[in-house]
Amino acid sequence: VTAARDMAREGLVTGSVGNVSARTAGGFLITPTRVEYERMTADGLAFVGLDGAAASGSGEPSRESPLHAAIYRARADVGAIVHTHSVHATAWSFLPEPLGPPIEEIEYYGIGPIRTSEPAPAGSLALAGNAVLALGGGLAALLGRHGVVSVGATPQEALTVARVVELQAHVAWLLRGHAT
Ligand SMILES: [Zn+2]
Repeated sequence: VTAARDMAREGLVTGSVGNVSARTAGGFLITPTRVEYERMTADGLAFVGLDGAAASGSGEPSRESPLHAAIYRARADVGAIVHTHSVHATAWSFLPEPLGPPIEEIEYYGIGPIRTSEPAPAGSLALAGNAVLALGGGLAALLGRHGVVSVGATPQEALTVARVVELQAHVAWLLRGHAT
């Protein structure tokens, strides 16, 4: 809940868009759909199994739960996932070219190359599968024509990666059209 509020306060998402999850026994806790982050409580989080099926919790899980489930199934090292629509990174996700040149923080945080997934409808299994492919063994990917997904051991770590992706995309836009 703290990471989700930080994400919203920092302008990485608008309103209740975006989502945050953390792995728990047998699945993960995820932010509920259509709840403003400032009103969100830990009790309102939704539990979803690794198969993507909502099991319990008072909140209705985010529509991007299939994305989170697919990443947790593919990556045993991932403890938390953040999904944002931060402006520069989202804009770059519409381009058919890799995000770069890499800034210092990409290496510092061990994020790896940031690839862009094939576009697919929000909330779909196709989006989830495409995101897993783009993520590979790295810590972040752009979702084609959509936004950002980042991972880490904790929600705060995944949020840090999401911040770096936005910084990287902002720098990339500023450099666009200049020789690097
Ligand atoms: Zn989204």
